[in-house]
Amino acid sequence: MDFTKVDHIVSQVEKSINETFPFDSKGDLLVGVDLGTAYIVVVVLDQSSNPIACEMEFAQVVKDGLVVDYIGATRIVRKLKEKLEARLLQSLKRAAIAVPPGTGVKDSQTHRYVVEGAGLEVVSILDEPTAANAVLKVNNGVIVDIGGGTTGLSIIKNREVIYTADEATGGTHLSLVLAGNYRVKFEDAEKIKKDPERKKEVLTIVRPVIQKMSAIIAAHIANYDVDAIYLVGGTCCLEGFEDVVEKEVGITTLKPYNPFLVTPLGIAMNC
Ligand code: ATP
Repeated sequence: MDFTKVDHIVSQVEKSINETFPFDSKGDLLVGVDLGTAYIVVVVLDQSSNPIACEMEFAQVVKDGLVVDYIGATRIVRKLKEKLEARLLQSLKRAAIAVPPGTGVKDSQTHRYVVEGAGLEVVSILDEPTAANAVLKVNNGVIVDIGGGTTGLSIIKNREVIYTADEATGGTHLSLVLAGNYRVKFEDAEKIKKDPERKKEVLTIVRPVIQKMSAIIAAHIANYDVDAIYLVGGTCCLEGFEDVVEKEVGITTLKPYNPFLVTPLGIAMNC
């Protein structure tokens, strides 16, 4: 698969964290809100799905896909919305959101209430790997979204989702292993994990966790004819992550540039 177009648009989202791109102020903008275990990300696109602004905050208000701090989550989404509105000089009205695959109706509604409580009408609720596929446009294969607390999978056949699953494992587990190994606090382990200078030693320490994640992927796809794995989600940013998965599962494993921003972008595209 050629990731050139995907990588270009994702890099535009990345740039739009610090820079507001010009847009036609007539008509509503497309907004995607990703309420994650580790980050809350809000992406804004113009009517042609071009990235124009993005804001995010590290937050622990959602756990394994479930909102555990309703007021905190609403406050952060409202703050990010207001920051974006100040940058765009335009109010944001509607948003799409996403939840891990298999999230129950009641829990999905809680995500909706958080975003509506922050002043955005929710027009679409998708599952996270399906949102990612709005960007990737995979015809056949499995999309694996490894976030902070969850690993979501969607098997795609002829552009249709034929199977979804969600497991409570993610980047938080990598950080916990690093915290134990270095005898440091979780927050410091998070910093070590993301330090490009330490990527080799980090990969050595967390390799067993990635192998466990690979075993989870292998078990879910065992009964399907899957010939490629597409990795998204912040945890897959770790350099060499894809090589461990490919070796363990024995299937071609690909990841786009900055897998962290793919799902939030795909959510906004569905607004
Ligand atoms: P979930 O989807 O599980 O609810 P989330 O939406 O917050 O969680 P993401 O935003 O996709 O998940 O990813 C967050 C995770 O990615 C965190 O565990 C974070 O530490 C990890 N992460 C982010 N950047 C990097 C990086 N450069 N290297 C390694 N891990 C990273």
